[in-house]
Amino acid sequence: MAIKLVTTAAGLRAESARLLREKPGSSQGLVPTMGALHEGHAALARHATSQNDVVVASIFVNPLQFGEAADLERYPRTLEADMALLDAEGVDLVFAPSVEEVYPAGPPLVRVTSGPLGDKWEGASRPGHFDGALTVVAKLLHYGQPGAPGSDGGTAAYRAYFGQKDAQQLALVRRMVQDLNFPVEIVAVPTVRDEEGLALSSRNRFLSAEERDAALVLSRALRLIESRALAHEPLDPDSAVALVKSQPLVQLDYFDVVDPVTLEPLGENCRDTPFRGEGLALIAAKVGPVRLIDNVPLKS
Ligand code: AMP
Repeated sequence: MAIKLVTTAAGLRAESARLLREKPGSSQGLVPTMGALHEGHAALARHATSQNDVVVASIFVNPLQFGEAADLERYPRTLEADMALLDAEGVDLVFAPSVEEVYPAGPPLVRVTSGPLGDKWEGASRPGHFDGALTVVAKLLHYGQPGAPGSDGGTAAYRAYFGQKDAQQLALVRRMVQDLNFPVEIVAVPTVRDEEGLALSSRNRFLSAEERDAALVLSRALRLIESRALAHEPLDPDSAVALVKSQPLVQLDYFDVVDPVTLEPLGENCRDTPFRGEGLALIAAKVGPVRLIDNVPLKS
């Protein structure tokens, strides 16, 4: 394996500096993950390696963003397989710090506040989740900064890669970077799905075969709305809600069509008038023990 594992901020900085000196040009990409990697993460890594000279993937299961301790404990940890997947995509460095490395003084007193954008949708069911997620993303964006000037003496360009799958997280990271002047370009990567349409997620492994089949209704409902948007038809989200509710193993939490930046509902105008412009259809549901989220960007 060419890929190298580093577990400390100092180690990451030193290795990043060494690689940037060795490689021509100068840009560094960061792919933040919680591990248990699948093809969705591989797509992020692929985007990053195609656009940067040096690529770092981080693997850190962040305690701050978990509500229940049991959920944190149960989160799958598969470091060896993750390293092999990232190595195959040409990632240079894996940064897998311990909780003590990231939070040496215990849980941080000062945190990033996600504000009203973090209180709705996923935030409504998972209080504090986005404050915890943004706090660690802020730290990871600092850790992942290019370690030294590039070979031309200039500062290396810096990009970080996030999945469209977590649309609210992506919107919040974009706002944090804009509002707090992080010197990084955020790149969104489209959602990777299995052949039947189910969005890949590390949590899918907790679904039984029957629950997995039932979960397909989420992407079916989204595709229904997407096809109407493409055809400039009224979106009629109520019919998509009815489709999801017809599946007894699926407990719908929310389904709505929102503005892709503010995540505010588009409201009545998308219900019975032909759809124009841009939107985002969001869904969250519990299938058996697993909470699933999915979304599809809409364009007329
Ligand atoms: P996670 O390890 O689940 O925290 O996810 C790490 C990154 O991978 C996030 O930016 C996710 O949005 C992204 N990601 C997770 N699943 C997918 C998927 N199916 N397609 C594209 N990106 C994904």
